[in-house]
Amino acid sequence: MDLTVRRAGALEYLTAPALAGSIHCFSTRFGGVSEGALASLNLGTHRGDRPENVLANYRLLGRAVGFRPEQTVFTKQEHTAIVRVTAAADCGTGLLREAQDVCDGRITDEPGVALCCFSADCTPVLLFDPVRQAAGAVHAGWRGTAKGIVKAAVEAMQDAYGCRPENICAAIGPCIGLCCFEVGPEVARAMREALGPEAEPALRQCGEKYHVDLKLLNRIWLARAGVRRVDVSSACTMCSPERFWSHRVTGGVRGSLAAVIMLKGGEEP
Ligand SMILES: [Zn+2]
Repeated sequence: MDLTVRRAGALEYLTAPALAGSIHCFSTRFGGVSEGALASLNLGTHRGDRPENVLANYRLLGRAVGFRPEQTVFTKQEHTAIVRVTAAADCGTGLLREAQDVCDGRITDEPGVALCCFSADCTPVLLFDPVRQAAGAVHAGWRGTAKGIVKAAVEAMQDAYGCRPENICAAIGPCIGLCCFEVGPEVARAMREALGPEAEPALRQCGEKYHVDLKLLNRIWLARAGVRRVDVSSACTMCSPERFWSHRVTGGVRGSLAAVIMLKGGEEP
């Protein structure tokens, strides 16, 4: 299924039917207080924004979605396949104090821990096991996709929490689509090396270049991991730069989208 658009005043974000039962969202650019090139819902702390604006944006988004800024735990993304087990003691990492340990994915089985990953063309993926009550947030650019980080995250949930992959539900958020993601042959080669012939439907050759379908590639990884239910956003960040942050459209002068997921039970009334 496609994701659902939610609005609360000027704020707009997306939720996934597959993740029902969790507190989660994929953000858009709409509904924050940041200005200029960062207008208005910038959720990145390293984009040149004023810290008080970023904090205010988390407060606005969290109030609508159901988490507090103090509950967030950020990834420190470097296009790795590193997934970290995350606990309540980690809350505040990234927003209130600098994140130390590199990772592109986080998982938790503790309520009240709002896992956050970031994107602006790259693929955000949220995971939720309603049976075992565990969650994950993953950033998968093309490098992370080639490394199979979403499969690594599912396996980490199995190892750390005893999740069964068939119980895990996933949602792939807005990212650069097959329509716009033009890359050199090295990207296609990396996908072929990682996934073999299964990668072919996600690769379209256009002269010397390729168009690559990151959503489909991550769906393939999720299927390989044993995940059966996956919602996928139909949105392309580069086709809709007024609604989503697109690194390519902005030349890198941009805010960050966040994908957030938190298990129920830890929120304050
Ligand atoms: Zn597009």
